[in-house]
Amino acid sequence: MKTPAPHRILIAPIGDVDLQLLAPVSREIQRVFRALPEVRPVLSDLGFAFDAGREQYHSTPILHRLAAASPPGALRVLALTDVDLFIPILTHVYGEAQLGGKACIVSTFRLNEGHSGMAIQKKYVDRIVKEAIHELGHTFKLHHCPDHTCIMHYCRNEEDVDRKSDQLCRYCKIMLEDEIKRL
Ligand SMILES: [Zn+2]
Ligand SMILES: [Zn+2]
Repeated sequence: MKTPAPHRILIAPIGDVDLQLLAPVSREIQRVFRALPEVRPVLSDLGFAFDAGREQYHSTPILHRLAAASPPGALRVLALTDVDLFIPILTHVYGEAQLGGKACIVSTFRLNEGHSGMAIQKKYVDRIVKEAIHELGHTFKLHHCPDHTCIMHYCRNEEDVDRKSDQLCRYCKIMLEDEIKRL
């Protein structure tokens, strides 16, 4: 019997994203979702999502475009952007995902505090990796988790992000395994 090809998860950088983030994000995608990460630009211009009043980008329409523009062979698409994202009920978001859907996005804008010069800070990389796996987790139907060490815990600020681990709790892990089995 032929082993099926692993599912592909696209990492789509938009704008001026630190290229040094791509390797650690890829590694964690492989580890957590056992999928093949592939860096590929899907969208380049986010002008359609810009809100001039707030000077921020509305993440929800970006997700629709990402899902529509990503190749059919890709299981999921994770966009990484350096612009500030919002949804109307919140001042800003670190990211957003389609629950059980195809697309999610993470912004480095609010998570890059302490990031200066050429040397990329480990803390900054860790934050982006955690939020990337968190948003992808939503696309695998995982909800927010009350365990504040679980990667699916909802974070209000950077301290929350720093406090949570880079792992799923036992419960979320089982939910994810079930979802992966159904693919
Ligand atoms: Zn979330
Ligand atoms: Zn959990």
